[in-house]
Amino acid sequence: MATDAKRLKTEGSDPLQSFLQWCEVVGLKLNNKVYISKEGTVAEYGMLAKEDIDEGELLFTIPRMALLHQGTTKVLDVLEEGKASLENTSGWVPLLLALMYEYTSPQSHWRPYLSLWSDFTALDHPMFWSKDERDRLLKGTGIPEAVDTDLTNIQKEYKDIVLPFITLHTDLWNPERHTLDLYRSLVAFVMAYSFQEPLDEEDEDEKDPNPPMMVPIADMLNHVSNHNANLEYTPECLKMVSVRSIRKGEEVFNTYGQMANWQLLHMYGFAEPYQSNSNDTADIPMSNVYKAAVQVTRSEAEQRLLVEKWSLLCEMEMVGDKGVFIFGKSGSLTDTEMYTTLKILCMSVEEFEDFRENEGWEEADDDEEKMLQALSNEGLPSLPPLWRHLVHAAARFTLDSYGEDMLKDKVLLEDEDGYAKLSSRQRRALQVRYGQKTILHQLLELTK
Ligand code: SAM
Repeated sequence: MATDAKRLKTEGSDPLQSFLQWCEVVGLKLNNKVYISKEGTVAEYGMLAKEDIDEGELLFTIPRMALLHQGTTKVLDVLEEGKASLENTSGWVPLLLALMYEYTSPQSHWRPYLSLWSDFTALDHPMFWSKDERDRLLKGTGIPEAVDTDLTNIQKEYKDIVLPFITLHTDLWNPERHTLDLYRSLVAFVMAYSFQEPLDEEDEDEKDPNPPMMVPIADMLNHVSNHNANLEYTPECLKMVSVRSIRKGEEVFNTYGQMANWQLLHMYGFAEPYQSNSNDTADIPMSNVYKAAVQVTRSEAEQRLLVEKWSLLCEMEMVGDKGVFIFGKSGSLTDTEMYTTLKILCMSVEEFEDFRENEGWEEADDDEEKMLQALSNEGLPSLPPLWRHLVHAAARFTLDSYGEDMLKDKVLLEDEDGYAKLSSRQRRALQVRYGQKTILHQLLELTK
């Protein structure tokens, strides 16, 4: 890996110029009103407007042959032959094998593109932090658990699928060069740089999601929730189009999706300042709602009733062992699950018997609109007292599960000198933690 990185770095003059020349050769067309630069952007490479741009203008087009994926790589035949042995739940293995090959092959057609990232040391996802750092800085955010699962899966995937495959094809890969470390870096690269073409609406319920692919130039755009450009997919090409007007000198921002700060940090290694991320969310583990419900039981009979209610909710797939209820800045984002859970947990014995006997849960008598309204910031203060109490207590348990208390985080964020002294990891972790705590705190206020 280090050797590959060094070789890529010392070759050629300006990687950006070589890449832009390659873009012309492959037919990637850039509007004259935009340019790529490392200056004036929020993070390394990004796109900037040279002139004012109107809403709906085409910023660049990428022909499908310029996309890098399992169908366009030099090793496509080998990947196709070995298809059955490369299947896994994530569906990422063929692209990762293609990238391992193309990234280290001096003759690769994709070299001018991949040479933009001479090594992957700029990637600083929490998966590259020490476990202690993750557990200390991100306790309560959900990220340490997600990263532990990723690392276990990456190691298993490499050992059980990738290594046996590359050992069979030593003319293309070499286990000493295409190591687990390189594989892990490429997983982070795919997490942060790849695109997944959305399925047509009619296929959404039936087909597996499309596998990821690399989209040169589109992946040089940074993200903000308040973005000004969006990628469109057509049969011949992909198009980046402005979704509102962009002034000369402004950065062109794509959207990576509606991402909460914890998702941005987990998948992309950065977080937006907590107030500016309109998509920020906080999770309440379902187990905390159960814990809150246990607290209000007054007899063994009530405890037994609670166990029965919870099993019915599991059967209805409203709750699950590791499930979470999600709250955004304006209220619940999992309103059906949260509303049904509260409704059943707060039923009297008679109501519950009646509900179960009449299979009331199959009747879908609570319309979506009503549930959404009831669990919005406007509706929460008017919930029945017991419902409110359960949400309040569960939010409190969740707030208590963070390592640092909210006030300490607030002071740190507001103290300019103190904040400036924090490391980049400490800052990003603070933005994630504090954003989540703010949402949970707001929920406490709305349900008190
Ligand atoms: N800036 C990237 C580069 O120079 O290669 C191009 C964008 S790439 C698709 C995604 C990466 O850009 C992320 O993993 C993160 O490091 C960075 N990034 C994107 N949006 C950002 C933002 N709003 N703030 C900070 N970093 C951002």
